[in-house]
Amino acid sequence: MLKPFIAGNWKMNLTLKESKELAASLRTGVEGMNGVDVGVFPPFVFIEGVHSVLKGSSIILGAQNMYWEDKGAFTGEISGDMIKEVGCTHVILGHSERRHVFGETDSMINSKLSAAFAGDVMPIFCLGEKLDERESGDTFKVIERQLVAGLDGLTTEQVSRLTIAYEPVWAIGTGKTATPAQAQEVHARIRALLEDSYGKDVSARIRIQYGGSAKPDNAAELLSQPDINGLLVGGASLKKDDFLKIVSAAFE
Ligand code: PEP
Repeated sequence: MLKPFIAGNWKMNLTLKESKELAASLRTGVEGMNGVDVGVFPPFVFIEGVHSVLKGSSIILGAQNMYWEDKGAFTGEISGDMIKEVGCTHVILGHSERRHVFGETDSMINSKLSAAFAGDVMPIFCLGEKLDERESGDTFKVIERQLVAGLDGLTTEQVSRLTIAYEPVWAIGTGKTATPAQAQEVHARIRALLEDSYGKDVSARIRIQYGGSAKPDNAAELLSQPDINGLLVGGASLKKDDFLKIVSAAFE
């Protein structure tokens, strides 16, 4: 069994003080839970402060985005080297809000994934269908397009180190969770596509998180599915008790 990976995407929330307090509570709360990887993804400007709180702990620290160039005239953007310098080892790429609010394309996300690997930052690569795409029966088609385009040009070795997050857009921040069976069906499809392109060993090694209104009361059932290897949590990651209950569900 793959070690579950529970990641908290704080999005554009909290103050610096609240971020550091949440990080400190999580640091204490996850002590002894060695069988689970736990990560937090604060807003860029709070990363350094959160890093100072988490330094020396097992909690993974990551950014919610990065740009594909190393440096230069790219006003408002942040590079992989920059997030690494303030303590990140991971980065979320292709989140549905980046795709659908900020217009990121598969090809932009592919450039970011390549840059992340080149800069030794571990990506969580998000993909997922919108409600109309699910309703028109196009879920698998959309997932395959996003997966193939996103991973284009990456080596098998790079792909083997990836975390993927399946996040149906209609379930993100809406309170509507995919049923465990709906999520498992897509996770199994993603794993099968990975196996076709990269082989069984690689596909078996890749953790596929589910994201979309994951909460303490649905975490255990989602995590009991064979191809769900973790959760990417938005809203519930902002509440210490809820997030720790989700981590405990993975631990148990
Ligand atoms: C997310 O932001 O990746 C997410 C899944 O959000 P929520 O848990 O709030 O639906």
